[in-house]
Amino acid sequence: MTKQLELDAEVLVIGGGPGGYTAAFRAADLGKQVVLVERFPVLGGVCLNVGCIPSKALLHTAQIIHESSEIAKAGVHFTPPKLDFDAIRQYKNKTIQTLTKGLAQLSKVRNVTVVTGTAGFTSEHTVDIDGSESVQTIRFDHVIIAAGSRPSSLPGIDMSSPRVMDSTDALELKNIPKKLLIIGGGIIGLEMATVYHAFGSEITIVEYMDQLIPGCDSDLVRPLHLMLKRQYKNIYLETKVTAVNSTPNTVNVSFEGTKAPNTDNFDKVLVAVGRKPNGDRVAAEKAGIAVDERGFISVDDNQRTNISHIYAIGDITGNPMLAHKATHEAKVAAEVIAGLPVAFEAKTIPSVAYTDPEIAWMGITENQAKTQNIDYELGVFPWAASGRAIGIGRKEGLTKLLFDAESGRIIGAGIVGPNAGELIAETILALEMGADAEDISLSIHPHPTLSETIAFASEMATGTITDLYQPKK
Ligand code: FAD
Ligand code: NAD
Repeated sequence: MTKQLELDAEVLVIGGGPGGYTAAFRAADLGKQVVLVERFPVLGGVCLNVGCIPSKALLHTAQIIHESSEIAKAGVHFTPPKLDFDAIRQYKNKTIQTLTKGLAQLSKVRNVTVVTGTAGFTSEHTVDIDGSESVQTIRFDHVIIAAGSRPSSLPGIDMSSPRVMDSTDALELKNIPKKLLIIGGGIIGLEMATVYHAFGSEITIVEYMDQLIPGCDSDLVRPLHLMLKRQYKNIYLETKVTAVNSTPNTVNVSFEGTKAPNTDNFDKVLVAVGRKPNGDRVAAEKAGIAVDERGFISVDDNQRTNISHIYAIGDITGNPMLAHKATHEAKVAAEVIAGLPVAFEAKTIPSVAYTDPEIAWMGITENQAKTQNIDYELGVFPWAASGRAIGIGRKEGLTKLLFDAESGRIIGAGIVGPNAGELIAETILALEMGADAEDISLSIHPHPTLSETIAFASEMATGTITDLYQPKK
């Protein structure tokens, strides 16, 4: 291996995911000379290559398969679809490639130097890039660490077994197991369950906590749980997996929980129990950067680490591990380096589970409001009273808004139903703009839309609802 010449960077960015490429592009647009290092030969990170984008491409196909059978209730009968998995994989891969090729072009037009290799700190102002054929030293004035996260595992599970998958393996769609066990009823587990169920797998989910998507209010999770209960073989809550043993023909799993059997056999197991930050993979100690025992690098509201010219963004800085958090933090870091007076001041980071029905929430959840003794008023509108929801056969939905009891301003929102992920955006804007229930209810919403349910939920809070009968208080 030959040592190459040094490269200088005003701003070095480590990691080419949504955090890293956004930071690099914003810093370049602000006149900085930028080097972006990514260990893989394509940009896009987890989100574009093995996360948000491929999962949503597959969820799109799953949704069409599901709807083509559900529409029989409305008198339209399709023959069961023929699934061409080579073409499905190609569709997913093309979606990814369109975006990653776009990133390469966007880097080029901005004169961002992209270096392929794995970065490790060697001092407070240098990193070595371990490429396939060389090691390159880069000296920097500022660095933004955007090295992301990787799937977590559980002790005792052999992840190298061909019968055990993490989310990256699952998105490859190598084959469709007849019986699939998903360990973890969080967002990855449920999104991948939706995909594999549509493609023909019999699904069992095992979740350690007492509900699916544990951080979410239970009234929002209930309609999803009821739907999944009808579709899936088993959903075991409050259950622990105690052993996973792969053999050439099956994988035998032991459970500990009141409703689960002691053991069962599956064709494959997907482990979806969270993600681990990559703070332990950049030789942070050589630059004196503080990394906690889980691998997170803590930052202030300027995205600065404990070393003032070293910044960190995205999954590596803490929960929630979401692409829109990474990109928002990225802009803050790049702008702070360019001398702009900015900070991370977003009032909320919304969450969406792209399941069927979707669940989306932002701001304070009702659970949090209760445990934190926040005095709130509620506006809840059941979709069973929405003309549009009835028309599309989706009465199970619910829109719930939380308002501060004193100021009347919106402090939280949760929506369950198709397109909840799109609908939640209005409530985020309302929160950022300090809107109250009257502001929302007096904004004319188009009829008949699902967005009306947000206005109706506000009317439930102001007492002006006419689409439902609300007895006087
Ligand atoms: P990453 O995307 O992880 O990028 C980090 C990059 O750094 C990687 O490309 C990695 O190769 C590179 N790297 C790491 N170490 C080094 C090093 N030493 N040197 C050089 N390069 C390095 N979020 C959403 O908001 N919406 C979704 O719908 C969604 N769906 C998801 C679905 C799945 C299956 C998964 C796994 C995740 C999903 N996420 C979703 C989460 C989202 O992907 C992450 O929050 C997001 O990618 C984080 O961006 P990041 O830039 O911090 O890190
Ligand atoms: P998660 O933390 O959301 O869910 C993991 C689930 O596994 C939890 O409910 C947890 O209680 C359960 N669990 C943990 N240990 C267990 C055990 N031993 N047995 C049974 N259950 C166990 O993590 P995830 O679903 O893997 O997702 C990882 C990250 O990726 C999250 O931060 C998530 O926000 C992000 N992501 C987001 C989206 C989206 O925005 N739509 C999609 C996918 C992933």
